[in-house]
Amino acid sequence: MEFTLAAPTPVQLRDRDGWGRGLCWLCATAEAPVRWAGAVVYASSTHGRARVHMYACAPCLRQVIQLIDRQHQDKQEEGVRWR
Ligand SMILES: [Zn+2]
Repeated sequence: MEFTLAAPTPVQLRDRDGWGRGLCWLCATAEAPVRWAGAVVYASSTHGRARVHMYACAPCLRQVIQLIDRQHQDKQEEGVRWR
């Protein structure tokens, strides 16, 4: 069974690929233009196992992409295959 917990500021998004207004889960800006950034699954003693959808603003998404690129580059330099 899977359920979604409500975000502190409900995000008004119908389409996960689109932009909406809501809380950025990375910088905590409220009412920012945000889009779906991914989901985390966690275990809670009160809610059991839950999947939470996270939303992020453009500057935060850019930073995440830069970090992914940097990690990708580091792994390539180390000769680790990226999967
Ligand atoms: Zn943000």
